[in-house]
Amino acid sequence: MGLKERIESVLEKIEKAAAKSGRKLNDITLVAVTKTVPVEKIKEAYNLGIKIFGENRVQEARWKIEQLKDLDIEWHMIGHLQRNKAKYAVRLFSMIQSVDSYELACELEKRAFLYNIKEVPVLIEVKISPEETKFGIPPEGVPPLIERISKELKRVKIKGLMTIAPFVPAEETRPYFQKVKRLFDDLDALDFPGVEMRYLSMGMSNDFEVAIEEGANMVRIGTAIFGPRE
Ligand SMILES: *Cc1c(COP(=O)(O)O)cnc(C)c1O
Repeated sequence: MGLKERIESVLEKIEKAAAKSGRKLNDITLVAVTKTVPVEKIKEAYNLGIKIFGENRVQEARWKIEQLKDLDIEWHMIGHLQRNKAKYAVRLFSMIQSVDSYELACELEKRAFLYNIKEVPVLIEVKISPEETKFGIPPEGVPPLIERISKELKRVKIKGLMTIAPFVPAEETRPYFQKVKRLFDDLDALDFPGVEMRYLSMGMSNDFEVAIEEGANMVRIGTAIFGPRE
């Protein structure tokens, strides 16, 4: 299968899964994950209609974003962000999906202030599988973190949650996604000032259909679009 066919197949699956939860293809935001994918391939995907791309390393993203700066692309940071890279991240990305500490949020705030960036949209990364993922904040830590960012920071704007399910067969990911969806709804009801529970970013190549069925409205898909990574 070529890139065009793989993209079409992913969109079809997204549409079907969305229908199962009473939604449409357009209700789901697709982030095409381009770590290790060469810029030529990214350009090809862009020409096939994909406009949002996700990278997990600042160094790699910097170089690619520079190469592709003439295209109207929205770049998302989806990997763990070290505090010393915050200075690049605020300028490179339209959204940082992997905020998991108050200290990192403060660093983003400080850099936004220095570079006169009005708003840094972020998602809070929730850790739902203690054994398997190193990063993110456990569910019980999420409401206090969001409350503190909302109270104390002006430019870091929370737009939702992100999570990575454990790497198990797709069907077994369901309860994890359900748990994060409940947290998302609870946070929405809490209505912290300046906080918008708009994006629920969960689901990767292995499990995006289950994630959408359970309420994800943003999926991050690499392999199913670009093929296996080297
Ligand atoms: C690599 C990556 C993805 C995409 O993974 P695939 O299995 O290739 O779809 C999604 N989210 C994050 C945070 C990643 O690092």
